[in-house]
Amino acid sequence: MNFNTKVIHGGQHHESATGSVNVPVFLTSTFAQKSPGVHSGYEYSRAANPTRQALEDSLASIENGARGLAFGSGLAAIDCVLKLLNPGDEVVAVDDLYGGTYRMFTRLFKKYQLKFTFVNFDDVSKISDVITDKTKLIWLETPTNPLMKLVDIKAVTDLVKGKDILVAVDNTFATPYLQLPLDLGADIVMHSATKYLGGHSDVIAGALIAKTPELGEKLHFIQFASGGILGPHDSYLVLRGIKTLALRVQRHSENGMVVAKYLENHPAVDQVFYPGLESHPQFDLAKKQMKDFGGMVSFTFKSGKKEDSIKFLEKVKVFTLAESLGGVESLANHPALMTHASIPEEKRAELGITDDLVRLSVGIEDKEDLIADLERAFG
Ligand SMILES: *Cc1c(COP(=O)(O)O)cnc(C)c1O
Repeated sequence: MNFNTKVIHGGQHHESATGSVNVPVFLTSTFAQKSPGVHSGYEYSRAANPTRQALEDSLASIENGARGLAFGSGLAAIDCVLKLLNPGDEVVAVDDLYGGTYRMFTRLFKKYQLKFTFVNFDDVSKISDVITDKTKLIWLETPTNPLMKLVDIKAVTDLVKGKDILVAVDNTFATPYLQLPLDLGADIVMHSATKYLGGHSDVIAGALIAKTPELGEKLHFIQFASGGILGPHDSYLVLRGIKTLALRVQRHSENGMVVAKYLENHPAVDQVFYPGLESHPQFDLAKKQMKDFGGMVSFTFKSGKKEDSIKFLEKVKVFTLAESLGGVESLANHPALMTHASIPEEKRAELGITDDLVRLSVGIEDKEDLIADLERAFG
């Protein structure tokens, strides 16, 4: 099956009792048994629920994995991966991470004696310098949030091939339409399904996709034992979102490119961060690794002034000033004051998350309206 077909049919079947084309929302916590221990495969909805199962089968299908798991949030999915580790284990992570992931690593899991090393993955050979015999997990995000830096997934997985180190990729920004980390050698894909997979800003959800059934089973055990599952109604919403994923990401990418080019030529703009621009330092990698370049665009002001970015964000109308991303509607965000406020100021400065940085999640509206809105906000 090809991708446009998979998002609609992958892992899906009509409901057996009635032929219902869509999976029903199974609002049940428990399932009747014929005799003690004799059941239909479903016992209790924390372990498995048919609506969540339909979503999980879709997730496995679209990411080319063996097993999908759906969680109550993206962070609950990351929490599950970290619980594979033991005290003393080390994690090497890309330094420009989603703020909530950074907060979980440094403020929750550090105290359970996990060690985190954050490195710039621009030059993959530098990773060898920080890997020790205690390193058990490499955590990647590509493109990163909010500076749109890329990591060469294949180069990283080649580097640790044969070692007892898992490679996990947060594929939230790219989605499986743009890149397939498991095909590039990764072991686990993670999503904030709140974003592009759900696609309509109406649900908080997370996902993991494991490359092998064995790893999928280990992750499922942790999910079952610690309980961070996605409910049936939210599972239905994400499954419905996935059906239009390919169409939406095509349009997000078209509009993202138009907005990035407009910004690049605007006299008030200093830097534009978008992997589809030739000025992006990793444009060649972007062309190799990604099918297209998506809808996330960040930029800074020539003036370098925080007030200019705030004024701009107060003026946009078609773009809504809000956290989050990946929905059909365009959103604008101020990372230093909003999504990335949990990262200490000096650390933000070191990474380049300056006080005049604006991040746009370009939606699927008409591009003329988006450009007119930006033009008005600069004026
Ligand atoms: C939003 C986001 C998360 C966290 O997901 P939630 O669904 O908000 O818990 C993780 N990674 C990235 C890249 C995100 O954008």
